[in-house]
Amino acid sequence: MISRLLLHASESKKLEDLISRMRLTRGLVSRYVAGTTLEEALAVTAGLKRQGIDVSLDLLGESVADLKESERATQEYVQAIKAIPGRVPGSTISVKPSQLGIVVDPDACARNLSTLLETAADHGVAVEVDMEHSSVGPGTLEIYRTLLKQYPDTRVAMQAAVRRTQGDLESFTEHKPRIRLVKGAFNETLAVAVQDKEEVTIRYQELSEWALANLPDPAFGTHDDKCIAHVKATAERLGVDRRDFEFQMLYGVRRKLWTELVQQGYRVRIYLPYGTHWYPYLMRRMAERPANLLLFLRSLIGD
Ligand SMILES: Cc1cc2nc3c(=O)[nH]c(=O)nc-3n(C[C@H](O)[C@H](O)[C@H](O)COP(=O)(O)OP(=O)(O)OC[C@H]3O[C@@H](n4cnc5c(N)ncnc54)[C@H](O)[C@@H]3O)c2cc1C
Repeated sequence: MISRLLLHASESKKLEDLISRMRLTRGLVSRYVAGTTLEEALAVTAGLKRQGIDVSLDLLGESVADLKESERATQEYVQAIKAIPGRVPGSTISVKPSQLGIVVDPDACARNLSTLLETAADHGVAVEVDMEHSSVGPGTLEIYRTLLKQYPDTRVAMQAAVRRTQGDLESFTEHKPRIRLVKGAFNETLAVAVQDKEEVTIRYQELSEWALANLPDPAFGTHDDKCIAHVKATAERLGVDRRDFEFQMLYGVRRKLWTELVQQGYRVRIYLPYGTHWYPYLMRRMAERPANLLLFLRSLIGD
């Protein structure tokens, strides 16, 4: 119930305006956000790299209202791509179609993504496409499918909770996608997505098994011990090497586990948000762990 309210709140522009102007404790935002600038994000990334952990850089911001904003975001990502090879090689960027303008104009979004993929290919950097709300999910997959042939290293996130995911995955016959399997963070109806947490976990485990058996270099974006254990055991059973897939986690969540996995010989990549538009991202993180809500409310009253 609280989770759904928080997800609902994450979509409210009015609340965003209100809360973004309030004095939030630095601690709460900085737990999940690496900094406000690319420079700060690169410094955190370099620190993680020294521990054997890779990063995917996420410029905060989503659901842009006009194409100028999406062009600005595209150019900011271009700067990130150019910085990666010299400063933090092996890092990827994660992009959100709603930030690239899919809601305003899907063709413009495809052009922006294409610009990023071309620049990234020139610099030897891989791109990951986030999967957002189901209102833009099918459009995202359509654009991804069109660009996959030319840029086969591009990764797309797929949500285990969403009912059409298995069918979508099986629809890629000619070019197999590199995916990031996640549970799904958005407020969806029962018709679109499974809501029961246990059921989502079971679907995640089934899909992870399918991905390990059928797809190149899958990534598993989860902090759930049950899902992680299942991925490890399945890879072992199928004879998939620990370096042929990766675990991905969110900056600020389960830090100790990152190093444990690296020590066990697994590849780990941290999704690292930076920028100033943290509101919807932070609200989704609250929804995943309502225990954080108390901290959040206390920070709102300036404690
Ligand atoms: C790298 C990465 C990329 C992602 N990309 C997308 C995407 O493109 N589209 C999308 O819909 N979703 C995305 N997500 C979010 C995802 O869908 C889930 O909402 C989120 O990962 C929580 O699910 P879980 O698998 O960690 O399991 P859960 O059962 O939610 O969590 C398992 C445990 O992890 C810890 N934990 C989980 N979340 C938090 C938190 N916010 N704060 C503190 N502790 C927490 C808790 O200990 C919890 O018990 C991404 C997640 C990751 C890790």
